[in-house]
Parts: sequence; structure tokens; C-alpha cells
Amino acid sequence: MMQRTLAIIKPDGVARGLIGAVISRLEETGLKIAAMKMIQMTKKQAEGFYKVHAEKPFFDSVTDFMCSGPCIVMVLEGEEGIERYRKLMGATNYKEAEEGTIRRDFATDIEKNVVHGSDSPETAKYEINYFFNALEMISG
Ligand code: ATP
Ligand code: MG
Repeated sequence: MMQRTLAIIKPDGVARGLIGAVISRLEETGLKIAAMKMIQMTKKQAEGFYKVHAEKPFFDSVTDFMCSGPCIVMVLEGEEGIERYRKLMGATNYKEAEEGTIRRDFATDIEKNVVHGSDSPETAKYEINYFFNALEMISG
């Protein structure tokens, strides 16, 4: 099934010069970029984005981190795009991520883990609409 997913190169990835490396891996995997822009979130915007984690102990810290610098936000598209991109990212904790994944190769911390990806069709829809309107997305 063709799916769209929301991907973010987080502030640590942008600051460390990993934009090109992450995008190369997406392209090598055959995922298509349907939309892309650079933004810096406010604390409120980061809280809205991660609202499913509002009760977690790491919520204040992760939302501070997500608004600490610019991010690249992208809509990716492909067959089984959500799962394929999650596999490319690797586990949340880079120490548990498989060899060859983005987080295993680049992350330095469970919080500063370089990339985000939607985890289901429902969250993908919410997250894509959070950052992009229809005019900003390439269709097809
Ligand atoms: P993301 O949603 O960013 O793609 P994920 O789905 O792998 O990551 P989540 O459980 O949704 O992981 O957590 C969201 C983000 O919160 C993580 O990517 C990480 O930056 C941060 N985070 C998660 N667990 C912890 C933790 N135990 N300590 C600190 N930060 C954490
Ligand atoms: Mg998540």
C-alpha cells in the first residue's frame, strides 16, 4: 500500500551537518520526498507535535530539544512507507538500533536521536497536517 509519512531531521541532526547523509539514505531506499522545508518550532508547537507523550517524564526535555534549533520536516511517500522509514531510522534508543540504521550510525543519545518518523497511518495523517497544507505537497 502506498503510504505517506512525516519525517523530521531533528535539531541535533541539522546542527551536526547530517541533512545530506539522512536524505541520501532516504533516496537510496527509494522513498520519495513529497514535501520538505526547514522550520524552527516554538515550545508550544513542539508540545502540540509530541502531545501523545504529554504524561511522559521526558516530555519537557524532548520538547525543549525539538525547539532548540532548526529542523527539516518532510513528507515521504512510498510502498509501505511508514514501516520502511521506521526500519531505516532504527530503534528509539540508538544502542538497541540495528546495524546500518540512521540512529545506530549517527545518534548520540536516546533523546538526541537525529530523526523522527510517524509510527502509524493515524499519526502520519495528524503529523503531516500539523506541518503541511495540500499546496505544499507534490501529488502522485
Ligand atoms: P520519534 O517519535 O521521535 O520518531 P520514536 O517513535 O522512536 O521517536 P517515541 O517513544 O515516540 O520514540 O519518543 C519520542 C521521542 O522522545 C524520541 O525519539 C526521543 O527523542 C524522546 N525519548 C523517547 N524516550 C525517551 C527517554 N526514555 N528519555 C529521553 N528521551 C526520550
Ligand atoms: Mg514516536
